[in-house]
Amino acid sequence: MNVLLTATQLHEGVRRLAGEINAFYGQQPLVIVGVMTGSLVLVADLIRQLEMPLRVGVVQARSYRGNATVPGELTVHAELLPELAGRHVLVVDDIFDTGQTLAALLEQFDRLGPASVRSAVLLRKLGRQRVAIAPDHVGFEIPDAFVVGYGLDYRDEYRNLPFVAILDPATLDEESPR
Ligand code: 5GP
Ligand code: MG
Repeated sequence: MNVLLTATQLHEGVRRLAGEINAFYGQQPLVIVGVMTGSLVLVADLIRQLEMPLRVGVVQARSYRGNATVPGELTVHAELLPELAGRHVLVVDDIFDTGQTLAALLEQFDRLGPASVRSAVLLRKLGRQRVAIAPDHVGFEIPDAFVVGYGLDYRDEYRNLPFVAILDPATLDEESPR
């Protein structure tokens, strides 16, 4: 396992993200929607550095079980989301890979009548994008490799690593799509 981003670098990156978001929204109330489960750690670190009146909700965008990068269905549990109509919404995800997850989420939230919908991701993988939209705030751009840690999993493990590491491709199961 090769460390790509240390805990110190992640801390700096999240501080940078928070700075951008604070500068953009000022004191306008904001609803953060974290895409579970990968954004759990980012959301926890990020929201403590945001200075506007804030609400937090979550949605689930699930890959097919066991598969690492196949975009899955979106599961929106209304009871886990505050009211979005008329509010500024910031969708927070762990990684922008092909972009299909984020594109689908933004489209879905648009239908709920928010004042605005924007996005922030910790990582953006270069050379994989398949959609027209790009995240508004990006913590780090990374090469096309499978990464784990700081919320990101492989088969539900490794989320608790305080750093981001490249998982050796030999470790990835053959059933996995990459
Ligand atoms: P998308 O391709 O739709 O942008 O990303 C789909 C999802 O695949 C991401 O939200 C993330 O959960 C997962 N994913 C994409 N690349 C990686 C990666 O390198 N590591 C991990 N752990 N998950 C990834
Ligand atoms: Mg995800």
